[in-house]
Amino acid sequence: MPWSFREWRRQRVLEARPLDARAWTAVLESFHFLRVLDRTERARLGRWATLFLSEKQAHGAGGLTLDDGMRYAIAAQACMLILELDLEYFRGWSEIIVYPDEFLASREFTDEAGVVHAHREALAGEAWLGGPVVLSWADAAPGAYVDGVNVVLHEFAHKLDMLNGETNGFPPLHRDMSRDAWRQAFELAYRDFCERVDGGERTLIDPYASEHPGEFFAVMTEAFFETPGVLRREYPDVYRQLAGFYRQDPHARLERGRGSARVQQ
Ligand SMILES: [Zn+2]
Repeated sequence: MPWSFREWRRQRVLEARPLDARAWTAVLESFHFLRVLDRTERARLGRWATLFLSEKQAHGAGGLTLDDGMRYAIAAQACMLILELDLEYFRGWSEIIVYPDEFLASREFTDEAGVVHAHREALAGEAWLGGPVVLSWADAAPGAYVDGVNVVLHEFAHKLDMLNGETNGFPPLHRDMSRDAWRQAFELAYRDFCERVDGGERTLIDPYASEHPGEFFAVMTEAFFETPGVLRREYPDVYRQLAGFYRQDPHARLERGRGSARVQQ
């Protein structure tokens, strides 16, 4: 690989602003899908997180002050999406705003009669096209149990989706991927999932995925990393497409992690 100016600059950042090893290790141990990373993956994630934190300005709002552990937790989860890609996937914006808990957002929509309605709703996270990612720390912090819901993965998946414009569940694919295969896998799964949710089924995947194809992609990403076994069983074609896009196999990684945990016991 030719030594580019970008690589030189990145190297300078990595040398000048190393992560605090103890706080970083504590973060890796506090998320089940990070705990199972091998040494190489941990080093790579640490590298991305360092660069991520130097490029993005994360700050607290609503009375919240962010410490290193909180910044690391957000960076670690977000950078899992780009572990095998590049920080360039998070280009075009720089701000992360973190509230202590769910925050109120103003919403406006125009109905069929042309009347504009405004309301306020409580959100756990939000990603703006070309703008900030907004998070609730209560939802972004390490959780007590694994439920396939992860607001950081969700909002940063929207950022990847937005790379080619609108939030439509169709991020820019790699050259070795088929747009038709992606479309087919996601359309079939989305239709099936909406039917199941409309039919009142209690799904293992967050029913919020039925809101919109863009939300479907973000929620499938949460499941891909958090509960990959569930996604692989429910929608294997979607799992395969996401494995191609993220260039990762979280199910194999979790199985491997479980295996080594058994050996250690
Ligand atoms: Zn969303």
